[in-house]
This record gives sequence, C-alpha cells and structure tokens, in this order.
Amino acid sequence: MSNLTDLGVKDIRDGVAGGEFTAREVAEAFNAAVEQAAGLNAFIVTTPDHALAAADRADAARAAGQPLGKMGGVPIGMKDLFATKCVQTTAASHILEGFTPQYESTVSQKLWDAGAGMLGKLNLDQFAMGSSNETSYFGNVTSPWRKAGGANTAMSPGGSSGGSSSAVSARIAPAATGTDTGGSIRQPAAFAGICGIKPTYGRCSRWGVVAFASSLDQAGPMARSVEDCAIMLEAMAGFDPKDATSLKMDVPAWEAGLSGDLKGKKIGIPREYRMDGTDDEILKSWEQGKEWLRDAGAEIVDVSLPHTKYALPAYYIVAPAEASSNLARYDGVRYGLRDLPEGAGLQDMYAATRAAGFGDEVKRRILIGTYVLSAGFYDAYYNQAQKVRTLVSRDFEQAFAQCDAILAPTTPTASFPLGSLSDDPLTMYLNDVFAVPASLAGLPAMSVPATLNSEGLPLGLQIVGKPFDEQGVLNTGLAIQQRAEFDAKPEKWW
Ligand code: GLN
Repeated sequence: MSNLTDLGVKDIRDGVAGGEFTAREVAEAFNAAVEQAAGLNAFIVTTPDHALAAADRADAARAAGQPLGKMGGVPIGMKDLFATKCVQTTAASHILEGFTPQYESTVSQKLWDAGAGMLGKLNLDQFAMGSSNETSYFGNVTSPWRKAGGANTAMSPGGSSGGSSSAVSARIAPAATGTDTGGSIRQPAAFAGICGIKPTYGRCSRWGVVAFASSLDQAGPMARSVEDCAIMLEAMAGFDPKDATSLKMDVPAWEAGLSGDLKGKKIGIPREYRMDGTDDEILKSWEQGKEWLRDAGAEIVDVSLPHTKYALPAYYIVAPAEASSNLARYDGVRYGLRDLPEGAGLQDMYAATRAAGFGDEVKRRILIGTYVLSAGFYDAYYNQAQKVRTLVSRDFEQAFAQCDAILAPTTPTASFPLGSLSDDPLTMYLNDVFAVPASLAGLPAMSVPATLNSEGLPLGLQIVGKPFDEQGVLNTGLAIQQRAEFDAKPEKWW
C-alpha cells in the first residue's frame, strides 16, 4: 500500500469506502505527519481527536453498511479564520487569542456533515491581510519548498492561506480550506504547487468566517488536484439563510461534471496582463498553458480587460475600508484580549486593547480604511474605487461575450524568501495584481500548478470563469492538469 499521507481527498474517500484501509488509519497517519512537521509552523492548534472521532464515525458507518459522505473519512486542515465550536479561533491575531467560539461556521459544519474531520487550525496572515504569511501573530509559516541547489533559504508559502498551502503541499493534510478576498487562495496555491479555487461570490456562506472585507471574502478548497477541489467545493458550497449575500442556487454536481475536453470552448487571453515586472518564466508558462488548452480542443482568443491596472489600487481602498468597519468589533469587551490599564476608562481600554492586539499590517489597513472613508475623502477615494470596481466587472462582462473562460498567470513571480519583502508593502501588494480583478468582479477563479521554474519553485496558471461557472473553471483546470502532469513534491527537510 502506498503511503497514506500521499493520498488526496478522492483516493482517501474511495479507499475508505472500498475497505482498502480504515479512516482511523488515515487520520492516525496524518496526525503523526502533522506532529512531525512543527518546523513548518503551518498549524496554530492541532486537533487530533477531532480527526480521529470523524474517522471512527466513517468506519462505523461503513461497518453498518451506510453510505459515506462526500468527504467521508477525509481529515483536513481548517484555516483559522473559520469559527470552530470549542476550538480556539484567532484569525492569527493576538486580539483573538483565547477566543473559543460557541458556534461552528457554516462551511466547517458542512464539511463535518459530509464526513470530514479536522487535523487542526491552520496559520494565516493576521486577519487574512498579507501575501507571505509573515503578518501572523503566531510566527511565519514556512513553505516546504526550497530553491534547488541545496540552499536553505526559508521561502514564503504565500498568503494569506499560507498554512493551508504549506500543509497540503507538504502532505501533512490532503486538503484544506482557504479564503480569498484578493487572491488568498490562488496566490498561496501557486507558490506551493497545489490547486485552489475561489468560487463565485456567494457560493460559500461567510457565516462564522472572521470578516475581512465582506463584499469580497469567499471561502474555497485547496488540494493537490482539480478533482479533489471539485469534491470539497461541493461539500462547502450552498445557500445559507444566515448569510444575506449567500447565493440561492443549488450546488451543481461539479465532480460528476468534470471533463478535460474543451472542444467548442473559447479561452480568452487578456492582453493587459502582460505587465512590466512579470517574470519571463511565468510568461513562458502562460504560453505553454495556451498550447495545452489548444491541445484540449479550445480556441484561443485575444481579449481586453482595459481597467486591469486600476484594479489593485481600487482593491487597496475597498478592502481596507470594509476592514476598518469590520474590525471595529474588537473592542476588548466581546472577544479575546482585553487590555485594561490601571484606572483606565472605556475609551482607554479600547485603545489599549487595539494597540496591543492588532499587528502592524492590520493597523495599517485600519488607518487606510478610516482615511478613505472620512468626510472629505470619501468621494475622492472610496466612491471612486467603487466606480473602478464597476468598470472592472464590466470589462469581464465584455470579455465573456467573446470567450468562455480566461487564462492568465496567477502571480507575477514565484515564491520569495521570507523577510525579503516585509519592508516593502507595495511590492508585496503587487503580488496580487493578477488575482484581484476576479475578486472585485466576484468571479470564480482557480490556480493550477503548471511547472517548476529554473530554481525548482512551482508556478501556477489562473483560470477565471463567468459568474456561477465553476464547472467551466474546473474543467479548464483539469485540461491543464492532464497536460502539465505536475507531480513534483518538496523534498522533506522539516
Ligand atoms: N494579499 C491580499 C491582501 O493582503 C489578499 C488577501 C486575501 O485574499 N485575504 O489584502
């Protein structure tokens, strides 16, 4: 039997259902792998008992001849942005340290209902703000990948879902949840050589997910294959009356609908994505991607998304504005940390709690957010950014009149060494330049691994689809997966 920790979602689920191994054996193997991988710092807390209990339920169901759920017997990692009942939920911030929710997020509940178990809560950038996993209060996550040639430089797993990308590529979790506000599923997936899909805004309930920018936040799966993402997304998605922006639509059978045959499909190549500063090897892999899709039967067409260059600046107004409003709830009264200096009044307590509890990047976003929303600047910044957002959406609408899906790089560069960009927030923000437009437009978008670059680091390709067309995105991703045959895995050093 192959190593159980090398298996993905589908193989585990089918292996448990077919009696090749027990769910308990799988959970024990992953629990052990998680324990040995402390050097990655991928988890904030581990929950081996949760994984074992779910496994035992799956094994008992099988023994009783009952059908197993969509994720039956599969242990997963849960980004620590999802509220989990009786398990500390921190958003990687000191201000939530010790916060133990009395409720379960809709998405995590759906995964447990589908038979999954939890290996632990995954580290992330604080409040999901960041692209490198260096803003976590609980320390950097390290990528399992290193540059070829024996260099020991610690590399970034991307962010904000960097615990998720690190754990899944290191094979200490077969899959993990992520959230994507402006690239946080796709960019870390690309950095770590795994797949990740952000569905259409509203597909997955935001209820119980710590809010960053509510009009952009979306949950999605991260796993090592397109099939595994399809399975897990089916378990995560669905209408939820507790989220006013949840889509009132049935969840399609994405797994059953998978096909890498793209005959009759048109794939658009947005000319504005050929930007200065994009790595040559990334441009080469984009060319290769076009060839793969042509080979799968698709016609490649040129499209234009003229407002692309305004998307990132607009995102860095809209997202901080919403964050500054969402984060006002951390006041030292309702959740987690309270800093009450001696003799202090209520206002002093708010200030002291926030000063001690929020990290620097979070404070930066709150300052930007309150500034762009302040009287006198509201029209010049926030309203203007909302108009740009509409124009970005309209660009996509017009492009999708000519094509079924769009192919682009996920990121302008491969992973970078931890620490190399921490003093340069603008370059850090630029990492999401290809990811943010689909976020502003609420469109489904996926990153699929394409190749390793000359330094031995993974590069990803991004597919953006029409609203509600996750199937088209997954199928285009599958066509790439079938041709890229990406099976590289990081050499174990942890
Ligand atoms: N890196 C982006 C930011 O810092 C996106 C984060 C995200 O998608 N959560 O805002």
